[in-house]
Amino acid sequence: MERTNIQTNFENSKKKSSKKIDEKKPLLDTLAQLATTYVKPSPDVQKLNKLEQLPTNTRQTLARRAKAKYFTQSYTKQLAMLNSPLKKSYNNTYFGCSNVLFQEGKKITSNYCNNRWCVVCNRIRTAKLILGYKDELKKLPDLYFCTLTIPNVPANMLKKTIENMLKTFGIIIKTLNKRKKRAGDKNKLKGLRKIECTFNDVAITFHPHIHFLIEGYQNAVDFKNEWLKHYPDALPFLQNIKKADGEGTFIELFKYYTKIITNNVMYIEALDVIFRAMRGKRVYQPFGLKKCISEDIDAINAQITDLEEAEKIWMWEENDWVDYTGERLTNYVPDETMNELVNKNIKHIDIKIQQ
Ligand SMILES: [Zn+2]
Repeated sequence: MERTNIQTNFENSKKKSSKKIDEKKPLLDTLAQLATTYVKPSPDVQKLNKLEQLPTNTRQTLARRAKAKYFTQSYTKQLAMLNSPLKKSYNNTYFGCSNVLFQEGKKITSNYCNNRWCVVCNRIRTAKLILGYKDELKKLPDLYFCTLTIPNVPANMLKKTIENMLKTFGIIIKTLNKRKKRAGDKNKLKGLRKIECTFNDVAITFHPHIHFLIEGYQNAVDFKNEWLKHYPDALPFLQNIKKADGEGTFIELFKYYTKIITNNVMYIEALDVIFRAMRGKRVYQPFGLKKCISEDIDAINAQITDLEEAEKIWMWEENDWVDYTGERLTNYVPDETMNELVNKNIKHIDIKIQQ
């Protein structure tokens, strides 16, 4: 069953929001077009455009961060109210992840929570992982994108099941490498695996699955067959192998960590079950590669912006960072899709697991 994911929703709302911005200034656009067609803008207008363009770049980047922050706040607030062992960490995201931006001149510094449920941190993490693994993976000429699944499990069994899947994955690598060696093939398996989990809101079960990139079609097939030996209940047709298509596949693999949204709804208790089960586990694990990129991002990060120089503290308030005079940093305003999501589509369900 296909599940909606955070990225898709984000992309959708991004499309909508950018469309909205365009709709707001058709007059200006038309005027600009008319101006280029019929009249060359005066030097003053050109100068004005230049001056306006500079700050909008940083502000646009920060507006995307504001959107990620606004979205993350909506469900971490709810997660922090649960009686969960992750309560402290949820609070750390809600109160501590880029809540305050320190501006010194053109430099902006902020703190990050580094948690997996945080979209602000995941955007940075995704960029870091793509950058870190891209060249190494591009060296592998015959790459396949595979998915391994098992039947869904109830909340209580999720943690153990994920542990078992990851262990099994490691065992299969060893088995196949040994088999290759015996056959005189010195090349070890090369690739990268990722663990993911989605929630089925009809059956109230969890669906942990592994995506991985592996070099060589036969290796992918052998891997799948071994998996089915370890998990005889897994349905063969759900174990998928497809040719990787370079950049697109990397983005597919790295673009999101956790699916926050299931069928357009955020099920708070289900998310907590997934985050608890995933706690302390590596989401990404390379095998046979020289590189292993840390999934952690820097707790403190400084960026040089093109903002007007100032010494300021920007505090997060509702949906933007605001200075002491009330000036807003990004002018981010949640669009309808976002509002509906955070105001209507957060749901609580009755799932209980032992602490
Ligand atoms: Zn964060």
